[in-house]
Amino acid sequence: MSKGLKVRFAPSPTGFLHIGSARTALFNWLFAKKYNASFILRIEDTDLKRSRDEFLNEIMDSLRWLGLRWDEVYYQSRRFDLYREYAQKLLDNNKAAREDGAIVFKYQFEKIEFNDLIRGGIEFSELPRESEVLIKSDGTPTYSFACCVDDALLGITHVIRGEDHIPNTPKQILIYKALGFEIPQFAHLPMILSPEGGKMSKRFGATAIKQYKADGYLPQALTNYLLLLGWSPKDDREIIGLKEAASLFDIKDVNKTAAAFSLEKLDWINSEHIKNMPAQALGECLKEYLESRDFLPENTKKDYLESVAELFKTRLRKLSDFISRAYFCFYDDYSFSPETRDILNRDLSPETKILSERFSGLESFDKMIIEKEFRAVAQDAGLKVRDLVHPVRVALSGGKVGPGLFETMEVLGKERVLARLKRLIDYWQNKG
Ligand code: GLU
Repeated sequence: MSKGLKVRFAPSPTGFLHIGSARTALFNWLFAKKYNASFILRIEDTDLKRSRDEFLNEIMDSLRWLGLRWDEVYYQSRRFDLYREYAQKLLDNNKAAREDGAIVFKYQFEKIEFNDLIRGGIEFSELPRESEVLIKSDGTPTYSFACCVDDALLGITHVIRGEDHIPNTPKQILIYKALGFEIPQFAHLPMILSPEGGKMSKRFGATAIKQYKADGYLPQALTNYLLLLGWSPKDDREIIGLKEAASLFDIKDVNKTAAAFSLEKLDWINSEHIKNMPAQALGECLKEYLESRDFLPENTKKDYLESVAELFKTRLRKLSDFISRAYFCFYDDYSFSPETRDILNRDLSPETKILSERFSGLESFDKMIIEKEFRAVAQDAGLKVRDLVHPVRVALSGGKVGPGLFETMEVLGKERVLARLKRLIDYWQNKG
């Protein structure tokens, strides 16, 4: 085999990792997995004033959280000598000159053409300038220069990045040529637009990946969604795991047209992933999330969390929804919500008392038996089952809607159910 394939993701730690840059990282990673290429993380921290550790840490943590592991990491701030050395070569060959303390690349205009793996042939018949600063007067390299030197020295074979870098490509090609470097292949990913079709903004999705994590999105849902911003498996499936996507991925199938960001779509994909998760995995994932939000009561049992998760898994868009919906499964201090008033108007305390007595006598508190008892009590009292279901649901959860009542009772357990039925009876009796 000729030399191995190599790609790189090259964020500047001057801001957090956001949707657009995470998608660039993802497509590089997919390419690496598909073609067995190395995936390099290159930190473009040449702007010493604006680069911050806080951003660097978030970028790395978010990449790890998304499951996009890199093989090697390089920091441009540690490679300044190399850039100066290559600038010196250009000075020696009269391809660059010193001007006002900076080293400036002087090039002859020539038509530049390159074949973009996504967009096909791209041609530039003019460039806006005839010179380009390589090393600034403070000794730091410009983005394009450091980028070319590194891509060449690190052996990057494919440069996969956002479409906003197309205008940088011709001058970078001139730099590769001037230094006698091999020119890599380019693939420019389509823009991600806001739902309105404009630029992504803080209001529309351009938030840090760590914020999505805090909001209760699953990493596999976020990568699934990012994947669809430019690519999809040919069978029109929308729910797909990273591993499978990597096996089907082909950079040539990436769309040329911009993709619009949609939070509704992301929410839907997230809910599908939550639904499809095995109980144990969902339990673990919720545990971590809920602990980070300080929600879980101490000593919550693993099995209990898993069974509550099973109750709600088809009803969650985000892990954060669990906090409001499943609150009553962990805490008793909820109140009956105002919209349940009409349900509670009808005093069914005698029937509820009978129900409590029948439940107390049960050996096994499983949903089939609970349902049987429940129906029998309703029938004996001449009630429709739903007449009793509604107030009991309010008693157990404080709300009008929720998962199946009998399953909910089984999960809550007999003690809790009895205590809550008592609370309902007290409510009726104190009202009158
Ligand atoms: N640091 C540049 C960016 O974040 C990298 C561009 C490139 O991939 O060449 O946009």
